[in-house]
Amino acid sequence: MILVSACLIGIRCRYDYSSKPCPEILRFLKYKVYIPVCPEQLGGLPTPRPPAVIRGGDGFDALRLDARLVNEMGDDVTFNFLKGAKKTLEIAEAFGVSICYLKEKSPSCGVKFVYSDKGIIKGCGVTAALLLKNGYKVIGVDSDRIMEVKGVLEM
Ligand code: SF4
Repeated sequence: MILVSACLIGIRCRYDYSSKPCPEILRFLKYKVYIPVCPEQLGGLPTPRPPAVIRGGDGFDALRLDARLVNEMGDDVTFNFLKGAKKTLEIAEAFGVSICYLKEKSPSCGVKFVYSDKGIIKGCGVTAALLLKNGYKVIGVDSDRIMEVKGVLEM
């Protein structure tokens, strides 16, 4: 079973009510069974919503409460991001997910890079961190391409 960031398959769940469909991932997922998730919506945040960034580290730091998630209004939305990550993990466990394709740079879904209060930094988002911590294979996807791992497309 495959888990995928919902915005990558055209669901308008981003902060500005847009999506980021990735043609490569859409081709790859055709005829496969997959679960689209939006951790920020699962965490109780509305769409549209003010964009948020990580302050003080990356997703792993946020899991330890050493970093915070703050939106552009200055609200602390760390709890929502943690709740969304936990619910995503519960979905992955319930459906026997074997691999996750997540949207790069998101403070929830980013795998190699995330938006922080210092701009784009190396590190992963809160949901990616929790999935990685629990042993899941997580692949970053930008809006136009899958970022890595040769052979995955032959699955
Ligand atoms: S990157 Fe993740 S949290 Fe952000 S809109 Fe897409 S699915 Fe939702």
